[in-house]
Amino acid sequence: RYANISTDIEELMKVLVDPNERQGYAWIRMRIRRMWPRFSKAMKSLQLKQDMNGRRKKKILVHLGLLSKQSGWKFAESQFKGGPLGELVQWSDLVATLFLLGHQLTITSEAEQLAGILNKLPAANSPCQSRKELPVDIIYTDIVGLRQFKKHVKGGYGKFSCLLRIVDSFGTEPAYNLRSWAKAHKILTTWGGQDLQPQQFFTMFPHSPDNSFMGFVVEQHLNDTNVVKIERRNQALVYGKNEYMWEGKAAYLDVIKSLVEIHGTVYIDTDAKNKTHSIPSYVNNHGLLNGEDLHTLLRQSKIFIGLGFPYEGPAPLEAIANGAVFINPKFNPPHSSKNTKFFKGKPTERKLTSQHPYAEQFLGEPYVYTIDIKNIQQVKDTVSRILHRNEFHPYMPYEYTEEGMLQRMNAYIEHQNFCQFQKQPAKWPPNSAVKFILGEKGVSCKDACWAKNLICDPSHFRDINSKESLLESGATCPQSKEITGILYPSFNTVTNECETQKEEFLFSCVGEHLELQRLCPCRNYIKGQTALCQGCE
Ligand code: UDP
Repeated sequence: RYANISTDIEELMKVLVDPNERQGYAWIRMRIRRMWPRFSKAMKSLQLKQDMNGRRKKKILVHLGLLSKQSGWKFAESQFKGGPLGELVQWSDLVATLFLLGHQLTITSEAEQLAGILNKLPAANSPCQSRKELPVDIIYTDIVGLRQFKKHVKGGYGKFSCLLRIVDSFGTEPAYNLRSWAKAHKILTTWGGQDLQPQQFFTMFPHSPDNSFMGFVVEQHLNDTNVVKIERRNQALVYGKNEYMWEGKAAYLDVIKSLVEIHGTVYIDTDAKNKTHSIPSYVNNHGLLNGEDLHTLLRQSKIFIGLGFPYEGPAPLEAIANGAVFINPKFNPPHSSKNTKFFKGKPTERKLTSQHPYAEQFLGEPYVYTIDIKNIQQVKDTVSRILHRNEFHPYMPYEYTEEGMLQRMNAYIEHQNFCQFQKQPAKWPPNSAVKFILGEKGVSCKDACWAKNLICDPSHFRDINSKESLLESGATCPQSKEITGILYPSFNTVTNECETQKEEFLFSCVGEHLELQRLCPCRNYIKGQTALCQGCE
């Protein structure tokens, strides 16, 4: 009944059996096998750092909706043909993490498999007591999988919606999550309106603290004992595995080519005969590479060249972890759901100021240069500066290491609880890690906390949603009123009123208004592990 650390990969492979002949899990299995030695080592190292005993073994269902036939996305079919891999990276690492932590895993990817498991659910009208007999403790899925759940369990949905953890790369903001609000404000999208608690969405990067940051592991082999040291050459590798990503980038690449040899790993569809080729002839294209070969190429290269798409993938962090410098295209104006097709319908207002905002904001120079790639002189200067360096230092944030991911996911599993009917664990993060701050006018809680080197923590909004709390924090309001909206609690500097939140689902770290000083719950964090407060592991 206790979760015991398990490092036997063959046991995990038995759980990762393809439900049909579509080879849906092939890429995931490959990645897990390749990374297993490092993962097992990290697990042991974490065990030495913190007490991993006495954790309850949880029954965890992982349902990969993106691989199901119904998704229509052909993720399974395109995993070795240049299809998107970022999501598969995240799922691989999640599966590996849950297994190593010693939980009991069931993995599905087709709606019929799901139906088989959910049929064991108690009937919708059964008494509350039987909720304890739900066949699972936690369910990880994506939005496609969530839709399949809703369809199959119908009346039973309300019972286990609190068990759900949605893997949601780009995140879902509270305003888009609450269906009634989104609908009334005409921002309801196909992805939004799920009415879950915002922290039930797990993102790929620490976008907004309204959601939980799941992340993934950045693969790196620099310190492996069997890796031969490779000399770094005057070579740049382009980040773009599909031809369409290269379109319109000739001028930018021509300039780089005049300074350094350019390589690529572009998937070429040999069946498509009449395709125009957007890849300049001077590029040394290796075709899509397997993990090992790609990493060798990264260790040989000095520069990893961003083309502006794909957004926020794992590859730039891999490049930096292998010592290459990332050229990150700047976006001015920023890209968002308001002006960019790719983000249309994504339930977030986030504005991307570059292809990889995490690399831009959390890493920066000398690992990342965020530049306007249309400014040829700036491109030339940046590339020359990098090439003239004597040393190339790899960098890997702790939160993207195997150990960092194990620590973070373990903390979530042990402490997060979205179900009212379960025994509520101690408040997490604890009050001792949290400070309440009245932000400046026009500043969101995300930014108000960050300005004090703290992180907004939405789980503590409820504690400060009162006139008294606003007064204690320095607001001076004779009157107060309740408002429904993402900006509250706040002090209105024009009317001198304290405004509290009426709808708890709308507590939100993001959102600002020129007239409002927002009251914000801010917590401390572990350097390199921003998702956790100090002592919260
Ligand atoms: N990748 C690979 N071979 C290649 C190019 C990329 O195995 O030739 C891997 C890469 O190491 C990374 C993953 O594909 O782990 C996803 O890469 P990317 O950043 O391009 O994200 P995506 O757009 O696929 O989500």
